[in-house]
Amino acid sequence: MAQLISGKEVAASVYEALTGRIQALKARGVTPSLTVILVGENPASQVYVRNKARMCKKLGMGSSVIRLDESTREENLIQIIRQLNDDASVHGILVQMPLPRHIREFAVLDAIDPKKDVDGFHAVNAGLLMSGREGFRACTPKGVMRMLKSCGVPLAGANAVVIGRSNIVGKPMAMMLLEENCTVTVCHSRTRELEKICAEADILVAAVGRPRFVTAQMVKPGAVVIDVGINRLPDGSLCGDVDFDQAAEKAAWITPVPGGVGPMTIAMLMENTVEAAEHAAG
Ligand code: NDP
Repeated sequence: MAQLISGKEVAASVYEALTGRIQALKARGVTPSLTVILVGENPASQVYVRNKARMCKKLGMGSSVIRLDESTREENLIQIIRQLNDDASVHGILVQMPLPRHIREFAVLDAIDPKKDVDGFHAVNAGLLMSGREGFRACTPKGVMRMLKSCGVPLAGANAVVIGRSNIVGKPMAMMLLEENCTVTVCHSRTRELEKICAEADILVAAVGRPRFVTAQMVKPGAVVIDVGINRLPDGSLCGDVDFDQAAEKAAWITPVPGGVGPMTIAMLMENTVEAAEHAAG
């Protein structure tokens, strides 16, 4: 039976380390602050935004949420982002995805000052990751790397398989695993022999968005299985991309949903915001 990698526990150690950094900044008159922009009424987004703001407050950080109507025009949103870019009291800017269809995601993301892009989605930060240079790393894959390190499994030379190639999870995940010298395979909806590829993974990361997509046959005995998926079932409960009960029989380590990658994503957002404030403070 697999051992659990608790996102809550790893996140708690991140917060412990952040507390001292936040106090040091405050002693210098700087309160690390995050501004989140939410366009529209997406219920899942509302929950994510609330959780982010709540965590800022809990850590004694500044937080504000700008709520905009679904019909907000792209240029108005960009105008607001520019004002935040110029506001020295704001260290991190996050535009909650998804945006309404009439707004171009890339135009909005690229309007954020890369130094305040705590989500790590700006083309500059994505490029810095790609070229192995310092910059803001996307929170979810950054959190996954922290979880992998917490369980002490050797990463160098490990066969890592990522299912999913989105800009926010799959692609940066692959780059971060590569940075740690894993041998990385990225799978997607056109991948042939997906089951076979997954069954050879020492580290298997599922970021598909399909409930219980990863079955026991796809898990190599002794593997580390990281479940990024958050899927809501018809009965309202949450479920990951991995069939947890089946996979836990074969894996050495596994993350739960909820309580796995989700809490780490928020922890990394807090860490990136503190880092942005430290950079701004010099
Ligand atoms: P996307 O929908 O953007 O990407 C899903 C990926 O899965 C795509 O690359 C797609 O391939 C691939 N895929 C879909 N169906 C299959 C299939 N049958 N076989 C193989 N690959 C397939 O999702 P995200 O990356 O944004 O999110 C993935 C999951 O992670 C979601 O459940 C989301 O809610 C969750 N999530 C969780 C976070 C957290 O904090 N825990 C943060 C962000 C996301 P193709 O590109 O070919 O279409």
